[in-house]
Amino acid sequence: MNRRIFLKSILALSAGTGLCAIPDFTQAQEIARTVEESDLKDYLHRMENFDTPQPGDIILNKKERTLLKSSLNRLRRVQRTVGFGNFCVLSFDHALKFGRNYSSIGRFTKQEIEFLDKLFHFDAHEYGFYGEKPVEKLTASISRKDLIKIPRTGNFLYRGEPHKKYIEIRKELGRKVYLTSGVRGVAKQFILFLTKAEANAGNLSLASRSLAPPGYSYHGVGDFDVGEKGLGAANFSALFAETRTCTKLREHGYLQLRYPENNLLGVRFEPWHIKV
Ligand SMILES: [Zn+2]
Repeated sequence: MNRRIFLKSILALSAGTGLCAIPDFTQAQEIARTVEESDLKDYLHRMENFDTPQPGDIILNKKERTLLKSSLNRLRRVQRTVGFGNFCVLSFDHALKFGRNYSSIGRFTKQEIEFLDKLFHFDAHEYGFYGEKPVEKLTASISRKDLIKIPRTGNFLYRGEPHKKYIEIRKELGRKVYLTSGVRGVAKQFILFLTKAEANAGNLSLASRSLAPPGYSYHGVGDFDVGEKGLGAANFSALFAETRTCTKLREHGYLQLRYPENNLLGVRFEPWHIKV
């Protein structure tokens, strides 16, 4: 079964399990019937091995990888210049502007901008990523007045529901739990996604199995990640599921996950990701 047909079936299945809504449910059920059990097994196997290349993965060619490298390095120079925290919520246009204004960064070339633009508008379903796209515009910007900086984390949260939820979690679970990643603008999601792709020979599908492609991340609209102090980078691995913090999150009903175990959205299990 090719990915297109599989995608349709998966979307239909997801509608059935309430993971994501599609309009015509009867039609959805019909398509769902066409999913062979073996295809589902294939899919789940792919997701279990999310961090290794799989047949059919979309991989950049040599020329595109050169562009990946140069635009990623430029984004990293912007990040160094504006600071890690500020970069998290920087718009794409502002990143370009910093490139123009600071010789230490250097202007983004026409080819780099075209590459990033194309990547942003590419249909991530082709990668095998079946989540929705909450941020549709490459130039989307985040207003500072809607944000609250969370002390000692270098991260921001949206005022209102997300911030309230975080405060609640800290109150119930204690100081051991902390914000590991909050609001992320398009430029930040680019750095994360491209870093993962670069480290894996330009394999965009592989990157999309653990990081939403730019535009597809709910960190752009309110979701956030929490971790347990002392665990470091392992907060973003299966180890987190075994921590006291994760158990308590579950007990207190916070684990209505965006990406549950064996989800059909093409994303690995992420028990640290809090859906708002
Ligand atoms: Zn997350």
